[in-house]
Amino acid sequence: MIDLRSDTVTKPTPAMRRAMAEAEVGDDVLDGDPTVGALQDRVATMLGKDRALFFPTGTMANAAGLWVHGRHGTEAYAHDDSHIVNLEIAGLAGLRGLQPRMVRGAPVMTLETLRAAVRPASKHAPRASVVCFENTHNGAGGMVTPLADLQAMADFTRTTLKLPIHLDGARLWNASAATGTSLADFAACADTVMVSFSKGLGAPVGAALAGSTTHIEEAFVARKRFGGGMRQSGILAAAALHGLDHHLGRLGEDHANAARLAAIVAEGVPDVRVVPPDTNIVMIDLPSRINAGTVEARARAQGVLVSQWNDARVRVVCHLDASRAQVEQAALVLVAALA
Ligand SMILES: *Cc1c(COP(=O)(O)O)cnc(C)c1O
Repeated sequence: MIDLRSDTVTKPTPAMRRAMAEAEVGDDVLDGDPTVGALQDRVATMLGKDRALFFPTGTMANAAGLWVHGRHGTEAYAHDDSHIVNLEIAGLAGLRGLQPRMVRGAPVMTLETLRAAVRPASKHAPRASVVCFENTHNGAGGMVTPLADLQAMADFTRTTLKLPIHLDGARLWNASAATGTSLADFAACADTVMVSFSKGLGAPVGAALAGSTTHIEEAFVARKRFGGGMRQSGILAAAALHGLDHHLGRLGEDHANAARLAAIVAEGVPDVRVVPPDTNIVMIDLPSRINAGTVEARARAQGVLVSQWNDARVRVVCHLDASRAQVEQAALVLVAALA
């Protein structure tokens, strides 16, 4: 099977497993694990923040970011197709008492759509406590928000709304690889930033939240309360460090493979709309003659796994465990499945 459902399906390479087996560890809840400490320092430096904190998942790190900035009974501005809104089972409401204020109207948040979502001042209207960005944007097919756009949104948020910003940067690595913009420049547009190690970098689990010392001290409390204090977690941090050392630099291959797959499908099936990929995710919008379930089943029967994003949209994701040849083969299978 060629599994292109997600970039989370990668399995740790033999070298990554060796790094995990050989990791120096300690009790991270008691007094720190040296490998976790090394990862946290590395990520804080890369993102240009005071500190970073290791989390078991991106979902928990996002929840901690919202915990830090959010105030119970207020709103969080978020894109209506964001991961925080659609794929974290309403954690913002369930864990932090936040109501999403949906930013609608474009595949990703823009200054214009954010402005349009701002409520007129009224003593009856909800107040807001935080603004959430997402880069790259998963629901929009790994779309990159370029630095200038992110800066404009951050300036407006800080100057006019006077609110803190949380950046869901699960795939910020891909945004940086695709544009050449440094991770730190992107991260400067937010107060807290989540990055994931289990997507493009190929680690089995893990994410980090970076921010100021004060924010990370508060995030530490949130992580503990959510049950995310992990003991000899250096075994997991070693996988993330290995991913940073050996897989970060190859993300461009996934982007090139996604572009190749998109081109083959667009050329082979004229009536589908393939969203031109900025990074490693290809969204295929289907004509009414076929639905995503049919495409998924036909591709599966030919050894290719893709995901149904919705009835009319199929998602295909390129990653570390899918070679150029496999991606090209998958593209041909998809052309047949879509016919
Ligand atoms: C995967 C993902 C997350 C959540 O990360 P997990 O480690 O799967 O919990 C959050 N945001 C975005 C944009 C993601 O793609």
